[in-house]
Amino acid sequence: MTDTIAKTRTQTTFSIFDKIEQMGHEQITFCHDAKTGLKAIVGVHNTVLGPALGGTRMWTYASDEEALQDALRLSRGMTFKNAVAGLNLGGGKAVIIGDARTQKNEPLLRRYGKFIESLNGKYITAEDVGMSEADMEYIAMETKHVTGLNEKMGGAGDPSPYTALGTYMGIKAAAQQVFGNDSLAGKRVLVQGTGNVASHMIDMLAKENAEIIICDIFEDRLKAITDRHKVQVVGTDEIYDIEADVYAPCALGATVNDETLARLRTPIIAGCANNQLKDEKIHGDACLQRGIVYVPDFLINAGGVINVYSEYAKMPKEWVVRKTEALYDTCLEVIQRSANEQRNAQEVAIEIALERIDAIAHIKTVR
Ligand code: NAD
Repeated sequence: MTDTIAKTRTQTTFSIFDKIEQMGHEQITFCHDAKTGLKAIVGVHNTVLGPALGGTRMWTYASDEEALQDALRLSRGMTFKNAVAGLNLGGGKAVIIGDARTQKNEPLLRRYGKFIESLNGKYITAEDVGMSEADMEYIAMETKHVTGLNEKMGGAGDPSPYTALGTYMGIKAAAQQVFGNDSLAGKRVLVQGTGNVASHMIDMLAKENAEIIICDIFEDRLKAITDRHKVQVVGTDEIYDIEADVYAPCALGATVNDETLARLRTPIIAGCANNQLKDEKIHGDACLQRGIVYVPDFLINAGGVINVYSEYAKMPKEWVVRKTEALYDTCLEVIQRSANEQRNAQEVAIEIALERIDAIAHIKTVR
């Protein structure tokens, strides 16, 4: 019996360290507090460029392993996102295991804040799934290493307009590559999801006289758009079959997959949704093979984190706009490199992020 326990423990410990080594994390910290019921994991992937910034996700994970996997995967993604966006930030992400609707309360959030404080600024948190601006206020009672606060509390406010601006810039960069100029006037854009980000993006597309086709699962979301703009509304499944210039996924992840790629008739995929490619390798390659320009999600939707960074680095809104507009150049660089070298655009964007981390690591060692 004792042998079995020792063996299991050894195997588990080894698999965790193998995984961390494989993914290149610097530090994973676990926090448990019996009184508040807090169970949290903070993944610090890379701090070469600066402190590891990324949101906290509260979710009812089926197992501790699933929670750890999410912390590892998401924190690594933040390293690439922050680096490619040109921010002086490393990559981190945290998860709290639990039901955000029933288990989240002041003591738990403040205990979590103390936990973050104990990391001495190596990790800076923000909102993610299951967390709100109000939750950040409780966390801020115990640590200064928190962003995503209300504008009245010195926060940077809603990131959606900036995520929308960056996405719009990414679409224009793709148009430049495909059509030889970046005007979207008369271009047909399929917008999947008309939520916070997409509604701002649609305003920009409409201003440029793009032809806009939308879908959403909620009538009120659609109405908010049709009240403002002349757009065509289609069904949530129908959207994949419409011939257009751009498919902009702005709702769910994994919508670029075997089934949808067989149906999509657009030369560009560029939208704000996270994790658009069902499989980064398979479906990133598939876009390339089909001659579709895919703008990597973590790059095109970086306007939001640029806004969050401005809160931490105390930068003005003009800077946020300038930095977000500059995503156009990075998107174009990725798209062109991908086309010239016939390589998966997602991999090219990661490569550019790694090149920057490598270059700055070198500068930091120079005396
Ligand atoms: P949101 O919840 O406001 O909008 C999503 C919209 O998609 C909603 O209107 C929802 O009804 C709709 N939707 C859900 N399922 C759908 C379906 N099957 N077909 C069509 N529509 C569907 O979210 P958001 O803040 O606008 O974010 C959109 C996406 O962008 C998400 O993937 C999010 O992770 C990503 N993102 C957002 C930000 C930001 O600043 N908000 C930053 C980076 C990435």
